[in-house]
Amino acid sequence: MSTKRKKKRQLRPWVKITLSIIVILLVVFGLKSCFFDQEKRQAKADPDQEVMTTAKSKIIIDAGHGGMDGGAISTIQKTEKEFALEYALGIGEEIQKLDPNIEVLYTRVNDETPWVDPYTSLNYEYDDLIGRANLVNEKDPYYLLSVHFNSREDVNESGFEAYVRGDDAASDQIYQNIAKNLKEIGYSKDRGVFSTETYPLHMVDMTTPSAMLIELGFMTNEQEVKTLNSPQMRAKICKAIAKGYVEYIKDHDNPDTNPQKEKLKKRAEEDAKKQEEAQKAAEQAAQQAAQANPQPVQ
Ligand SMILES: [Zn+2]
Repeated sequence: MSTKRKKKRQLRPWVKITLSIIVILLVVFGLKSCFFDQEKRQAKADPDQEVMTTAKSKIIIDAGHGGMDGGAISTIQKTEKEFALEYALGIGEEIQKLDPNIEVLYTRVNDETPWVDPYTSLNYEYDDLIGRANLVNEKDPYYLLSVHFNSREDVNESGFEAYVRGDDAASDQIYQNIAKNLKEIGYSKDRGVFSTETYPLHMVDMTTPSAMLIELGFMTNEQEVKTLNSPQMRAKICKAIAKGYVEYIKDHDNPDTNPQKEKLKKRAEEDAKKQEEAQKAAEQAAQQAAQANPQPVQ
C-alpha cells in the first residue's frame, strides 16, 4: 500500500461528512425559503391582508340614467346620462388614486343598463330604479353615490345639491366635505343637502348603504354646462368629490371602528394560523429529506 493511497483513504470520511452536511443544509434552507417566498407572494396577492393597517371600505358609484333613458338634455345637446357616466367613472378613479384600499364598484361603466329590458318592461323608469337598487343592495357596499344633473325652466338656476336619508349622518357629513372641497376649487354654488323625508327617492330610500344622490349642476344653464363639459374642470370636480369620501372614510372606516372589524380580525387570525402550518410543513419536509439522505458512516 503506497503512502499516497493511505492518505486518500484517511481523508475520505471527512469529505463525505462535509458534503453530507452541505447537502442537508441546502435542502433545509432551499425548502424553507421556497415556502416563505410562497407566503410572501400570497400576502401580496391578497388585498385583504392590508386591511388591518389601513382604511378599507367599499363604495358603489351609480351613473344616473343610461340605456333608453337619457335623462335631461343639456344646452349643448349632450345628455345627462353621458355627463353622469363621465363623472361617475372620474370620481371612482380619483377615489382609488387617493386610497387604493377603498374598493370602488359601479352600477354601469358604459351606456348599458342590463337590469332592465326595454322590450318587456311596462314601466321602464320604475323597473330601471328597482333593478339598479337591487344591484346596489346585492353588492353590499358601505356607501352609494348616485350621480345626476338638474334641469329647470329658469335657465339661470345653478349649483349643486344632494339628497340623503334623514337619519344618515355619514352621508350628511360627506356632503359637507364635498361642498367644502368644491368651494375650494371655485365650482358653482352650494344649494345644500336635503332629506328624502320630504322628497323620497328610490335610489336613496330603497338601498341599504349610506346613500347620496348628488345633482352636480344644471343642464339648463349654459355657463354651467360649459364648465361641466370642460375636461380640466371635470377632473377637479371629480377629485373634490372623491376627497370628500376619502376624508370621511379615513376617519371612520379604520380597523378599530370598521363595521366588519370582527370579520377582519378572524381572517387575520386564520392567516397567521395558515402561515404557522406552512412553516411546520416546511420543517417536516426538511427533516424527512435529511433522513432520506444516506448518512456518512465510515
Ligand atoms: Zn337625473
